[in-house]
Amino acid sequence: MNRRDIAGKVTPDELREITQALVRTPSLNPPGDVRECADVLAGILQKEGIPVEKVVVTDNLINVVATLEGQGPGKTMWFNGHMDVVPVGPDWTKDPWGGEFSDGKIYGRGASDMKGGLASMMGSMIALKRAGCPFNGKILFTAVADEETGSDAGTVWLIENRKLTADYAIVSEPTNGFVEIGHRGTLWLEATFKGRSCHASRPHVGVNAVHYAGKAIVALMNMELTARQEIFEVPTGCVSVTVVGGGTKLNVIPNRCTIGIDRRMLPIETVEDATEQIRRTIAGVVDEGASFELRQVKAWPPVMEEENHILVRTLKSAFEEVKGVKPQVRGKAGATDASFIKGMAGVPIVLYGPGPSKVAHTADEYVELDELVSASHMYTMTTLDLLS
Ligand SMILES: [Zn+2]
Repeated sequence: MNRRDIAGKVTPDELREITQALVRTPSLNPPGDVRECADVLAGILQKEGIPVEKVVVTDNLINVVATLEGQGPGKTMWFNGHMDVVPVGPDWTKDPWGGEFSDGKIYGRGASDMKGGLASMMGSMIALKRAGCPFNGKILFTAVADEETGSDAGTVWLIENRKLTADYAIVSEPTNGFVEIGHRGTLWLEATFKGRSCHASRPHVGVNAVHYAGKAIVALMNMELTARQEIFEVPTGCVSVTVVGGGTKLNVIPNRCTIGIDRRMLPIETVEDATEQIRRTIAGVVDEGASFELRQVKAWPPVMEEENHILVRTLKSAFEEVKGVKPQVRGKAGATDASFIKGMAGVPIVLYGPGPSKVAHTADEYVELDELVSASHMYTMTTLDLLS
């Protein structure tokens, strides 16, 4: 049996049905309840005779770990994706949990980010299983619970508690038809400004923490970020103040104000340097009795794989074989679990997944059936080539 025949052992209709089954099972995060989705996903693999374990982290947060053993010992290919989806939001014209199929697209929350990617990976495992697992080594598949809120109960938990590792990893977040060799990092910081309350009729007696937060916001807006890496979809870092909270009453000078800061970093930047730069920027505007504290909420370090790494080269040639054109390679704007798979577990990574990334987290999110099929075939061919 050749590689194409093996890849074709799962049909487009089956891939559509798997995606629809996952989309029709809400797995909202927040609050983070993926129980039903984990059951449906595990059931589909079990029906094919693929061994599945449900790893319960909390009552609601369950990771599905499946393993497909080849015919002999060898390397490990790690397929990773997340089951959780962000809240629905306004402006939908389709049922967000309907999994409607029209014009070659499956609609619903999570169709693109990233139940389509999970379905393509499951399809690849099903095809390989039906073909008799004609490879050496194994495929490790993790469908994780809480990527959208930081992965502490998902991929990070599995790496820390199950010591998961592999020789290669593919993350099936939507990549919009690109082969992505990494992503920018994300740094979440919280700055709390401390002043002194007083009556608003005599503001000069107090220290207005909201005013200092305002000065800091302007300074952060004007921060110059000069680092550039052209391979990234967004080739520079960026910083945004995304949350503000302060004050207790209209006629009280506030003694506290907190701002949330989202900083995106290129691989040539570090979490430490980015934090220090923000600290200096804020310190430059805080004086006269006010003070501030800067706290790291969460960090996803940036990652980038070598473009000539065998994993990247193999996926690129599978892309060309399936699609008939050479892929464009780039770096993703947003962070993914690849940050932890490479950063914590030291596994080489590449990102490729069906679906336009621009519809992720939006109304009428969709994934194209053609893309589900080609991604599934690419995963199968890449696995067969690397685990030969
Ligand atoms: Zn995602």
